[in-house]
Amino acid sequence: MIDMVREIDLQAIAHNILLLSENLPDRVERMAVVKADAYGHGAVPVARTALQNGCSQLAVATPQEGAALRQAGIRSPILVLGCAGREGSLLGISEGLTLTVASEEDALWAGEAARQLGKQGCVHLKLDTGMHRIGIQTLAERERVLQKLKSYAEIQLTGAFTHFADADGADDQYTRLQFASFCRLTEGLPSGILRHCANSAAVERYMPEMTMDMVRLGISMYGYPPVDTKRVYCPALSWYSHVTFVKDIQAGDAVSYGCTFVAEKPMRVATIRCGYGDGYHRMASGKAEVLIRGHRCRVLGRICMDQMMADVTQAGAVQPGERVTLIGRDGEESITAEDLARWCGTISYEVLLSSAPRVHREYIGAPGSNDIGKETYYAK
Ligand SMILES: *Cc1c(COP(=O)(O)O)cnc(C)c1O
Repeated sequence: MIDMVREIDLQAIAHNILLLSENLPDRVERMAVVKADAYGHGAVPVARTALQNGCSQLAVATPQEGAALRQAGIRSPILVLGCAGREGSLLGISEGLTLTVASEEDALWAGEAARQLGKQGCVHLKLDTGMHRIGIQTLAERERVLQKLKSYAEIQLTGAFTHFADADGADDQYTRLQFASFCRLTEGLPSGILRHCANSAAVERYMPEMTMDMVRLGISMYGYPPVDTKRVYCPALSWYSHVTFVKDIQAGDAVSYGCTFVAEKPMRVATIRCGYGDGYHRMASGKAEVLIRGHRCRVLGRICMDQMMADVTQAGAVQPGERVTLIGRDGEESITAEDLARWCGTISYEVLLSSAPRVHREYIGAPGSNDIGKETYYAK
């Protein structure tokens, strides 16, 4: 019997990095963004795959995420994208992570952490060109931060970056303004530092103009480009479960909590071992579909915590134990994280990383992939 599993194809990740690299000159470094446990795919196996397939750097959201990669033996540069704070700066410097400096205070904490630990530390400046999340907004502020950094011989400035708010938007105007602002704010910085601004959407839409020295590969690496493209990316994640029960119901019979679905005619209904307790959003109730025997089957009524029901009237003699595809391909049909996101009123990013701890992960598509997979699974 097929238990519930999220299957991650590391070959797909490698393929997507190759596609993303198509328009990039060799001199441009590629940074794989593996924050939030690599968008739910598993930070360690994805990081290793990325480093073996053309990426030279990694990015995480927090020092804790970076420390976990170091613990797994990963030696590459790792940039912490968010503000680390006082404690986080100590952890970051002690683990040899590159810290983001978005204010004078960040500079102070990075410097004091390095001094206290008696260690060298690397930082990237974060410039706010229009996202208005974190970052330095003016040249005057930049000078104050640089002065602060200079007062610490232990700190080396190795990069400067910004983040686009609307690189996937229909209009390119805001992104072009942000880019112009980034050019102005990086002017006169020491040569040899890495300047970077492009996320997945920008790599797709604004190459080569906005290449700079490095690009940050996120959602496209996982197979979901955020903008229309001719390139065929390969979704890395599939999600399978199984049928636990099958029965016939009659016209007038209701299905699931609240009796929101009432059958209009006799139908065959399968119960599936999956619910919102596994990260399958309840918001998809009444809209979602799953694949059984290559057929699209409508999910009926409300999604429960551990189970849900689907109409299998057209799918043949479905039996308990049979595979159900929640995300992925079955014969001619496929369901993507984008489909599921649409049914839930969210974006593919959120669907990809909404997986509960009880959902097992398996890795395919690379030599020893299951071993790397198990390692992360048990490391938690
Ligand atoms: C998450 C993130 C990225 C990656 O974005 P995608 O849209 O997934 O490509 C890049 N840069 C920063 C600063 C981020 O926070």
